[in-house]
Amino acid sequence: MYVLSRFLRVREKDGLIAIFHELHPDPVYCPVAEWLTFSRDVARPSQLIQPLLDRRLLVQSTTEDDAEFTRVEERLVHKLNQPKILYLMLAQGCNFACKYCPIPALAMRYGETLLSPENARAGLRLWGEHLREAANAHAESYIIFYGGEPLLNKPTFVSALEAIRQLQASGELPSRTIRLMLTTNGTLLDDDIIRQCHEYDVIVSVGLDGFQPVSNRLRMYADGRGTFDETVSSIRRLVSSGIRTFVSASMTPENLPELASFTRFLKDIGVEKFGFNFLKGRALPEFVSELARAVYERDTAAALMRSFREVGETAYEYQLKRKIEAFHSQDFFPIDCTCYGNQLVIQPDGQISNCPFFKAELGQIGDSVGTGFRIAKTPIISEWRKRSPLFHPAFRESDAKALCGPGCAWGAHDLSGDILTPDPAPTAFSKEIFDELIWSEFPSSPK
Ligand code: SF4
Ligand code: SF4
Repeated sequence: MYVLSRFLRVREKDGLIAIFHELHPDPVYCPVAEWLTFSRDVARPSQLIQPLLDRRLLVQSTTEDDAEFTRVEERLVHKLNQPKILYLMLAQGCNFACKYCPIPALAMRYGETLLSPENARAGLRLWGEHLREAANAHAESYIIFYGGEPLLNKPTFVSALEAIRQLQASGELPSRTIRLMLTTNGTLLDDDIIRQCHEYDVIVSVGLDGFQPVSNRLRMYADGRGTFDETVSSIRRLVSSGIRTFVSASMTPENLPELASFTRFLKDIGVEKFGFNFLKGRALPEFVSELARAVYERDTAAALMRSFREVGETAYEYQLKRKIEAFHSQDFFPIDCTCYGNQLVIQPDGQISNCPFFKAELGQIGDSVGTGFRIAKTPIISEWRKRSPLFHPAFRESDAKALCGPGCAWGAHDLSGDILTPDPAPTAFSKEIFDELIWSEFPSSPK
């Protein structure tokens, strides 16, 4: 005798029902009438029974549901414990003063500190300790040179590249699975840096928010000069030098209307991947009033989906790509960033954190190598994981929780003082994608 799982969810469209498990959606489709008949009496013979059993949507008791939740939770924790990204924050300050960026304010508060070569090396050694203990020793991981503007500190960038090679040669860092990335505004690139990026196979990710008028209004020098022309010429230079070049953009109400044509432009000039960020923290109310917030969330999600459909290659944008992959592998994926245990951040003053913007006070890097410090085991990570839609009460009724990340924890804290406050914009985006994916699997009913 079977009962419907408490994780069973349905969505209806054009006379069809998609039936899916909220923890690992893999829809089964049938006409509405068939579903209504079956759901009133699941004991009667139906071709829905086997596909629903296969997906654990029919269970013998609530104990099976409890066991399923525990299995998903354990898999999630396992994934969140896997080290994926080391951020070396080379500089606290920046030569730009972009309208929405918290970096200038953080630089005022903490000083224009630069990461020392010694602290960068110590960070690399601690990262090596994390990777050597990783459950999946063959998984790819990243070292990201970050800022402010990291190229304000070229000496540490160059010495860190050399240190990576030495540590790989001595076996302290893996040789094959580490990828390097420089996140920059592009304006301080010179021949030497380009040569280094070439030699060490560094991917360069450049910030740019749209075409000239919009971009110049958002991304400028402290004296107000726009930065579009210089940035685009740096992107072209990187591409023509054979360096893998990505672009990341912050989504504001100003650049949403041109997102599709901007994405096409980036593809045309040879940009390999495009990524977007939602406005974070106090920048959000500065750009979008409380009243217009829901419209911003909805319009951003819609513009992103429209742009990806028009460009015709969903894998081009990396957040979308990750969500699509998660959906197709029925992988519970309730995170939007890697600050829940996957990443180690070395801030410019040598302090360890789990997030580039958050002062987590986890100690100085110089004192932490060889002590057994592991970012995923720190109390802050246990606290931040409570944001996961798997556990957070705000997501209890959400049928899209398998793909919803909880957004930006730092931004929530910056706005409300509470790390557990939900962040609605990424959630709205995830729900749009989820709806698209649920119906894109049809027709194959019932599977
Ligand atoms: S270039 Fe980047 S770090 Fe610098 S102000 Fe702009 S967004 Fe912030
Ligand atoms: S919490 Fe926010 S700022 Fe920090 S790493 Fe995650 S997305 Fe980035």
